[in-house]
Amino acid sequence: MLRFEEIVEKVQRYNPKADLTMLRRGYIYSAKVHKGQVRMSGESYLSHPLEVAGIMADLELDVPSIVAALLHDTVEDTHATLKEIEEYFGEEVAALVDGMTKISKMEYKTREERQAENFRKMILAMVNDIRVILIKLSDRLHNMRTLEYLSRNKQIRIAQETLDIYVPIAHRLGIWVLQRELEDLCLQFLHPEIYREIAEQLPAKMEGLDVYAQEIALLLQDQLKEFNLKAEVEGRHSSIYGIYNKMITHKIPFERIYNVIRMRIFVEKTIDCYTLLGVIHNLWKPVPGKFQDYIGVPKTNRYQSLHTLVMGHKGHPVKFQILTRSMQRYAERGITTQWK
Ligand code: MN
Repeated sequence: MLRFEEIVEKVQRYNPKADLTMLRRGYIYSAKVHKGQVRMSGESYLSHPLEVAGIMADLELDVPSIVAALLHDTVEDTHATLKEIEEYFGEEVAALVDGMTKISKMEYKTREERQAENFRKMILAMVNDIRVILIKLSDRLHNMRTLEYLSRNKQIRIAQETLDIYVPIAHRLGIWVLQRELEDLCLQFLHPEIYREIAEQLPAKMEGLDVYAQEIALLLQDQLKEFNLKAEVEGRHSSIYGIYNKMITHKIPFERIYNVIRMRIFVEKTIDCYTLLGVIHNLWKPVPGKFQDYIGVPKTNRYQSLHTLVMGHKGHPVKFQILTRSMQRYAERGITTQWK
């Protein structure tokens, strides 16, 4: 079980001036009202709000969001009232907890209809503070992480609902770190055999790729010196769900997925991205139609970077993603970066 002190440490790392008294009061209150409740895993119920608050702290969110995460199930599942929460923690926290309570009531009502698209729209329209959605996504992530303790029927229902409703929301908000873990967990419970097949064979396949990626990185570093460009090059691994998705869309077996090497390069300034692109296209032949300038024209979730696919040496296609560190923050954590 995540300890409250670990959450405090996480928060202090990115927010040294955080109101720790407020956090501690949230923890004590949550512990008091959830006392005696137990999760399906056998752990005390308190482990859940603590884990959710921990996920929120990993996303580097503000103190009211984290306090609300600690309290998010209290009005729904205990004798606590919204009025009391407002009294103890103020309007801002109370409004966040109220938003969470409303979503769970709506979830229950619309369960039968399962109109994912409508439900997604209803949630986004109902919530006027996006932080409520962030708590909901963190809540769902922890529930997915502990899904093994539920019955098979519930596992399937919750994983499908997550894939239909919460994964697209995480995607829309650009929170790749949440999207990626949610997708992999959904696959694990919806198609356990395929998940296992990919997960078991992935490390061996990736070893070969890593060697090749290192060769590419070395060739590139030589060129960078000539152009006086500072850059960090790293190889990237696809997520298990990403590989599964490719198998399905292109109707190809697992073995043929691996011919694409993915490299990510970080540079200091935006203009360096374009210089580097020139260097890469000069070194290896670009594949027509595979270049995308998401810096000039960001994706709708504000994701920015340059993408290109080239034919590397020995005839391997290599995918490059070129971006700055601040673009990376946005690429991984999307909308959450605005509370930093
Ligand atoms: Mn919850």
